[in-house]
Amino acid sequence: MHSSLQLCHTSHDANREAEGQDCPHTPSYLRPPVAGSALSDSGSEPSLPHSRSVEFDLPSPVSPTRPRSPWARFDPYDNTEDQDKEYVGFATLPNQVHRKSVKKGFDFTLMVAGESGLGKSTLVNSLFLTDLYKDRKLLNAEERITQTVEITKHTVDIEEKGVKLKLTIVDTPGFGDAVNNTECWKSVADYIDQQFEQYFRDESGLNRKNIQDNRVHCCLYFISPFGHGLRPLDVEFMKALHEKVNIVPILAKADTLTPTEVKKKKIKIREEIEQYGIKIYQFPDCDSDEDEEFKQQDLELKESIPFAVIGSNTVVEAKGKRVRGRLYPWGIVEVENSAHCDFVKLRNMLVRTHMQDLKDVTRETHYENYRAQCIQSMTRMVVKERNRNKLTRESGTDFPIPVVSGVTDSETEKLIREKDEEVRQVDHETESHEHHDHGHEHEPEHNSEPLEPSDHHANPETHLHQMVDEAL
Ligand code: GDP
Repeated sequence: MHSSLQLCHTSHDANREAEGQDCPHTPSYLRPPVAGSALSDSGSEPSLPHSRSVEFDLPSPVSPTRPRSPWARFDPYDNTEDQDKEYVGFATLPNQVHRKSVKKGFDFTLMVAGESGLGKSTLVNSLFLTDLYKDRKLLNAEERITQTVEITKHTVDIEEKGVKLKLTIVDTPGFGDAVNNTECWKSVADYIDQQFEQYFRDESGLNRKNIQDNRVHCCLYFISPFGHGLRPLDVEFMKALHEKVNIVPILAKADTLTPTEVKKKKIKIREEIEQYGIKIYQFPDCDSDEDEEFKQQDLELKESIPFAVIGSNTVVEAKGKRVRGRLYPWGIVEVENSAHCDFVKLRNMLVRTHMQDLKDVTRETHYENYRAQCIQSMTRMVVKERNRNKLTRESGTDFPIPVVSGVTDSETEKLIREKDEEVRQVDHETESHEHHDHGHEHEPEHNSEPLEPSDHHANPETHLHQMVDEAL
């Protein structure tokens, strides 16, 4: 087979050069037969003349008859060693996943929190090179005293090299602005829970296609550069939210501090985070077989916490180059200069290296925690309802009876009632279908005992019970 493949190469390369582009390969078993290159019956390779003239007389296996690989230059089989091997073709699986995800696009929800004036909006604009806060209305001192924490959401669709990202920025204006800031983190925590609740509802509903995922994947928490480490409000906020969202602490306006001050503040903040038992987002550990450079980068990233950042929406000229920076009478601070601040490290972490991990931790840890708690309350609720139903049946009252409020937390109750209603409705529809399908041959038996589930979709009425059983 070597000679024929060698031939294939010669002509393929010749074609490539002629066309001046990459001509993709397909696995050998998919290639159309090459004249004179088929194996003989005995399985031995056909002998081919080795003269140049014969080589070029044979039809090229990459010529028009050969299908073009859809993976073009990303074809994992497109290299010289693979030409004489037989392949099933599953090395293209990562490409298939890649293709599908690129087509679908990505989404990411980032929350920014911290007292106003710390440069949150400026940093977000600098991070994503957008102007997300065009319509922002700044309140005066008087208005701010009475203002409660508000949650605002901005969404932009950005595209880079054919990859689409739906970016949602959740801001918390008013946080820490009031005279009394007791529990001002509560509306932020409620917002995060509401997104989990919505997702839980959608996910356990009947139509699970095209669920809109608004769960918050990361929260950049801005710490003032002017205090001595963390303030009580910072501790309170992070402790209240650390089990709901990935918190990444940020040391704001780093240009107002000298390099030594930045270093000292970072150490102090890290110590306090540890001391107060705050669980910030943990970068995943490097595998032992990673190369040294990668391990070094990972270590630097971990030591950068809290990221000392500088934001700017203006472009200034520094050393003949136009850069994002802040112009002072004594010089220029450059946002993207890693000697000046950790902006690039933060952006790389958020976008280039850890975006998917932030989403995974949100789904696998924070959302799972929420879901488990929710199911636990539902379990208690359903067990109570089942017992009550049992009692009611014994006393001859019709099923079902309404849930008595105040038994468990009102949100869970609402959810249960909605699910029950949904289940009842589907049950009703299924029954009328059965009537229709069987031409009213049989009256359906009235059975108020919960049916044993066999399939979520086939028995939606028992979905809730099934979820409860699973939880048990
Ligand atoms: P937000 O209320 O937290 O969103 O803060 P803004 O982004 O509106 O910024 C408040 C003020 O701080 C504005 O005058 C910004 O120009 C300024 N600012 C933003 N980022 C920085 C920074 O990194 N360093 C300094 N010195 N000032 C900044």
